[in-house]
Amino acid sequence: MRKPLDPERTQATLNEIAQRMAGEVNRGEVADYIPELADVSLNQFGIAVAPLEGPPLVAGNGDVPFSIQSISKVFGLVIALEHVGATLWRRVGREPSGDPFNSIVQLEFERGKPRNPFINPGAIVVSDIVLEHQPDGSDTHPVLDLCRRLADAPEIPVDEDVFASEVATGDRNRALGYFMLAEGNIKGDVRAVTESYFRQCSIAMSCRQLAKATRFLAAGGEGQDAKIAAVTSERVRRINALMMTCGCYDASGEVAFRIGLPCKSGVGGGVVAIVPGIGSIVAWSPGLDEKGNSVLALRAIEELAHGLDWSVF
Ligand code: GLU
Repeated sequence: MRKPLDPERTQATLNEIAQRMAGEVNRGEVADYIPELADVSLNQFGIAVAPLEGPPLVAGNGDVPFSIQSISKVFGLVIALEHVGATLWRRVGREPSGDPFNSIVQLEFERGKPRNPFINPGAIVVSDIVLEHQPDGSDTHPVLDLCRRLADAPEIPVDEDVFASEVATGDRNRALGYFMLAEGNIKGDVRAVTESYFRQCSIAMSCRQLAKATRFLAAGGEGQDAKIAAVTSERVRRINALMMTCGCYDASGEVAFRIGLPCKSGVGGGVVAIVPGIGSIVAWSPGLDEKGNSVLALRAIEELAHGLDWSVF
């Protein structure tokens, strides 16, 4: 059985981890295919835990905003499911891909139906649905709006420099979009859909804010956060299952083996991990491994989960 969260012990563990990570030499490499991300200082590490009740516990650079990138795919999925329910799965699969997040090869073999919602083509289909249902005249991106509400932080921005950088270098994502358009799996304008996708990736949040915003996934569809995100317990279980099997690119199996919690990473260096019934963890450090996952964020979550005996197994 999992032990309930003890705030003092958890805070002490977070402080120790943050101190250890500050002295780490092997920090990975920043993502440089989005030029704006290449300028982020490698020398940062933050971590936060949002318990189901009470304020988040934070250490290191846990209040420094970073680009949430692929982590936004979780929020996009919540919104798309709200709009179209299980019919979403006619357009997007639920299997790990084993290929890199922006691979085009598998998509061709599988006639434009992406393997899962957490690889880029899957997230682009999700963005197509989100955009199609965006109310006329609303000028806030639905994912930004959801993040702000869940984190109770109306100041959360889209980083316009990162957004411009993604639009400027986004040909591969547009190619995925056009390929799926040709296969009948995108309904909107590919430029508008991919821009909506880039915009949600460019949201900047701190570990503290992101931990608060993902806490509903640990609460099993109960409580105030679940009302804001309109998620049922069944949907929460499924999103967690997808995070566990597909949340960390083609290293998802390895991450499940090492950490034993549903996780979602992004190339900005953030990783979210869900401890059902206890809370959410967010760690961030911009240096990535060769699969695109933050080296120190994964290591920190692994140490925390092992130290406090948190696992779904
Ligand atoms: N905006 C990034 C891209 O589409 C997201 C990548 C990621 O975090 O996996 O390339």
